[in-house]
Amino acid sequence: MSDCIFCKIVKGEIPATKVYSDEQVTAFRDIHPVAATHILIIPNKHIASVNDLEEADEPVMGHILYTAKQIAAQEGVAQGGYRLIVNTGANAGQDVFHLHVHLIGGARLKHPMG
Ligand code: 5GP
Ligand code: ZN
Repeated sequence: MSDCIFCKIVKGEIPATKVYSDEQVTAFRDIHPVAATHILIIPNKHIASVNDLEEADEPVMGHILYTAKQIAAQEGVAQGGYRLIVNTGANAGQDVFHLHVHLIGGARLKHPMG
């Protein structure tokens, strides 16, 4: 998607502090962090949201979760704990329509579910 900011980050067309990338996924620091560690992990391929996933996307979603585990360890938040969040659609407050997993840690998190 040519006008998608996260596609542009994947391609290096706009700057971001990347912490990991490979042929399937890219991880970079959120521009407005809500905790000491706040990283977004995304598929390199444009998928707008969880609602737009296809069966063929199952491997990349598994890879995103495994990448989250590795980044949590790299960031030193694995033992203390962290939260993975995937906002989907208007009621969840999804702002960027390129599927992303927030990895948030390094602080005692409030429990905002629901
Ligand atoms: P959402 O509400 O869609 O789940 O979260 C979108 C996240 O993307 C927000 O936490 C926001 O701060 C982050 N974000 C939006 N634009 C940019 C950007 O250009 N660069 C980076 N690094 N993060 C962004
Ligand atoms: Zn995109």
